[in-house]
Amino acid sequence: MAKIDIHIDDLVITYNKGKANEFNALQHVEAEIYPREYIILFGPSGCGKSTLLYTILGGNKPESGHMWVKGEDIYAYTPAEMNEYQRNIIGIVYQQFNLIMSLTVLDNVALPRLFLGRPPSERNGRASELLRRFGIPERLENKLPMMMSGGQQQRVSVARALVNDPEILLADEPVGNLDSISSHHVMESFAEVNEVDRKTVILVTHNAAHLPYAHRVFYMRDGVLRRIAVNPAKPQIKRLKPGQTIVTEIEQLTRLWPYLDPIELKVKSIVNFATQDIDFNQIERMELFVLDMLKGSLDEEMFFKKLVTRYADGGLSMNEEGARIMAKRVFTLMKYSHEVQRFRDIIDSDDRFMHQQKYIERILEYLHEEIGVQVTSEQQKLLQLGVGERVGGIITAEEFEEKLVLPFHMGGLAFRETDAHLLSRHLEKLIAQGAYKVQANELAGAHS
Ligand code: ADP
Ligand code: MG
Repeated sequence: MAKIDIHIDDLVITYNKGKANEFNALQHVEAEIYPREYIILFGPSGCGKSTLLYTILGGNKPESGHMWVKGEDIYAYTPAEMNEYQRNIIGIVYQQFNLIMSLTVLDNVALPRLFLGRPPSERNGRASELLRRFGIPERLENKLPMMMSGGQQQRVSVARALVNDPEILLADEPVGNLDSISSHHVMESFAEVNEVDRKTVILVTHNAAHLPYAHRVFYMRDGVLRRIAVNPAKPQIKRLKPGQTIVTEIEQLTRLWPYLDPIELKVKSIVNFATQDIDFNQIERMELFVLDMLKGSLDEEMFFKKLVTRYADGGLSMNEEGARIMAKRVFTLMKYSHEVQRFRDIIDSDDRFMHQQKYIERILEYLHEEIGVQVTSEQQKLLQLGVGERVGGIITAEEFEEKLVLPFHMGGLAFRETDAHLLSRHLEKLIAQGAYKVQANELAGAHS
């Protein structure tokens, strides 16, 4: 068994102890981290990620419990020992870079060496070497940090954190302030530090897209470490017995709903099973087909073909009959959603009434066709009015549905509740597709 690097032992961290605003930011956190592991602390804002990270750094004295690092209780250290620990064992990278703005890039990186009393040639040589490794060219070394992009400044911070060759690198939302391209570069630097330099990396993020970098993810919520998930795509450092971890649908749901607890994911799995004929894999894949349809690159026949193609060949493995019905429903919805769009496009024009009537009739045509609810001529007239009000944005979806079920004498349409709900649901789908025009650049930006 690999030796344990860090043992978080029944840790409680309390802020404002004894005051009215006393608050337990960490509650009985228990975990072990192995040398050369890449751990991500994950969870929504305020769940205690930073608190845990700074406790590993030696900055938060536990209310109870212990923080063992390399077999030593770091909160039992003398101030001198703690200093030594923070200087030589741990490196840290912050979201805000925390570079000294009046020092050059090179001096920023070399500074921790200065404190160790190393001669200038030695400390600058090492700093330079690290800067080169993280993609900072020599010509920028003597510039001030301000002259660089955020991504470059963060890579300077990574170099600085490593200059004393620590064993453990901590990072608190290190790409939280960066654009996606710079984020990618910085995240790749951490992966390299872990894989090539063989450092333990403990990184805080609330971005689920980062999770594949980690060996294990610590899911936190409300100061509690709820769950530790092994990343099945990475060879594990913590030894596991064969069969000890099993990849299930729950892991997949974690990607879709990263903040949910296992019990909530189980609920999703069962509700999917009870209400839908397709599973989450199929749903995710179908979303790609729908996106292509919205981009205009799939017509109904092509969409149908995708649905019936075998899953292994990029399709959905649906049967022909089901696929026909599904494709038709989707394309009919899209066709009639244009009537909503046309209606709304002329909302400000003077001669709108004449035209809008036409669009409403088409929308009703859709509703009859799709749902087949029988309506009397009186209901039909009222329905025209109600649909006009709803599509015109004068009443809400709830108000529309309520109107449908109210008796005639109260100004309603006297529909059965189930019919009213079906009608309303279909109308809302049309409105959702028709009322909001997707811009060309949004379509291009959506990933497929
Ligand atoms: P995260 O990093 O997950 O967003 P933090 O660890 O920063 O969460 O904070 C956890 C909780 O502790 C939050 O509710 C936060 O408001 C509170 N907290 C953090 N730091 C302090 C502090 N110094 N004093 C009092 N409360 C704090
Ligand atoms: Mg934080």
